[in-house]
Amino acid sequence: MSDVKHTNIIETEAFRDRIATVDESGKRKWIYAYQPKGKFYNIRTILSVFYFLIFFGLPFIEVDARPLFQFNIPEAKFILFGKIFWPQDFFIFGLTMVTFVFFIVLFTAAFGRLFCGWACPQTNFMEMMFRRVEYWVLGDAPAQRQLKKAPWTGKKIFKVGLKHVLFFLLSFIIANFFLAYIIGIKELEKIITEPVTEHVAGFASIIVFSGVFYGVYAFFREQACTVVCPYGRLQSVLLDKNSMIVAYDYKRGEPRGNFKKQAELNLGDCIDCHQCVKVCPTGIDIRNGVQMECVGCTACIDACNHIMDSIDKPRGLIRYASENSIAKGEPLHYTTRMKLYTGLCFLLLAVLSVILLTRKDVDATVIRTAGMLYQERGTDSISNLYNIRMVNKTTQDLNIEIRLVDAQGRIQMAGNPIIKMAKEAQAAGTFFVVLPKENIKQRKTMIRLAIFENGKEITITKTNFLGPAL
Ligand code: SF4
Ligand code: SF4
Repeated sequence: MSDVKHTNIIETEAFRDRIATVDESGKRKWIYAYQPKGKFYNIRTILSVFYFLIFFGLPFIEVDARPLFQFNIPEAKFILFGKIFWPQDFFIFGLTMVTFVFFIVLFTAAFGRLFCGWACPQTNFMEMMFRRVEYWVLGDAPAQRQLKKAPWTGKKIFKVGLKHVLFFLLSFIIANFFLAYIIGIKELEKIITEPVTEHVAGFASIIVFSGVFYGVYAFFREQACTVVCPYGRLQSVLLDKNSMIVAYDYKRGEPRGNFKKQAELNLGDCIDCHQCVKVCPTGIDIRNGVQMECVGCTACIDACNHIMDSIDKPRGLIRYASENSIAKGEPLHYTTRMKLYTGLCFLLLAVLSVILLTRKDVDATVIRTAGMLYQERGTDSISNLYNIRMVNKTTQDLNIEIRLVDAQGRIQMAGNPIIKMAKEAQAAGTFFVVLPKENIKQRKTMIRLAIFENGKEITITKTNFLGPAL
């Protein structure tokens, strides 16, 4: 048995001492990942095309003359699905965040790092854009390794130079669109078409973002997932033994060993060819079990399936599975737990949608003027003075009128009876509410005020009306 490597995953845990991209001396190990080939890689390639179309296309989509999505952090203005959110909507933002965190916890507990492998921008841009350019310019992993060792000839300078020029160009393009998500495509257009001197901050942002993206994709690469990404760091607490992960079927694969000696030594199906390791963009050996560095990219599934085909064994030695399903030797089922979590995730999404869609277009805050009690109006009426502050979250100028709801009396505006409110702006006004004395039954009466825009009620707000002590 001496030539059979019994690297049993339970006995050898030394790989957990440090991440796969760092050697014993603490130096970065550069990963030369082979280009995967197979079903999953093909599907990911097709999906990535849609992904990039969406990423580069969304900033051009407008709803009611405003972007579909905008995350204007400097101006604290956020647009989701064409609806504008102001600092006043902070509670919605808070609720969204809480819902989002619950969603992530549930989704990850059920489906592991499905997001990382298929939907994460870092994985998509790195694996489906930048690494493809690298393969195209430098060749597959062995050619890249050779080029690294080769002396600096004209050919090497050209290849490496071309790769970095293309990487920077792509980073520059991504940076422009990234900025478009913050300031909007129209503002970006101005930065591009107008003199730099008029948009120094915008231009500087593009250069900084380009530099960051270039640094990440040219040098930092998989470290973003293994060292920096907070979601990646949380995997150890979010995953459990029933979560869906990319897993090696050690029951079927072990003991691993040379293909030619499989029958003679009664070995498992793993022929220890290391193809799964060679394609891994984070440099890990999935046969060691669940590891924090695994981004669920499925490259090792494709690589191993290819090997299984070539040695005439069933596919799926590495596959989507849960730790428990591997231990029990069962295929991965869509378990009740997964169904429950999926249901909860949909429920949370529904709650979030309701919160976002029912948000009012006009926020009105009515406060009784401080320091004033009430005013006698002749012999039969009492009035209170109020201040109103409103936020117009629409893209249209509004003419606002205030009316009393369910109370007999009238509104008397101080100044123009119509408050004019510019689009995406705030407005304020002062008005009296005049009520007949006979209708005032207590010192504090709750009244409701309706805000009308061109005869259409857009929101209702409540306030107190103060009368004499009875
Ligand atoms: S172990 Fe497999 S799924 Fe995980 S990152 Fe490496 S290649 Fe991708
Ligand atoms: S690719 Fe498959 S057979 Fe080859 S080492 Fe990996 S698990 Fe074993």
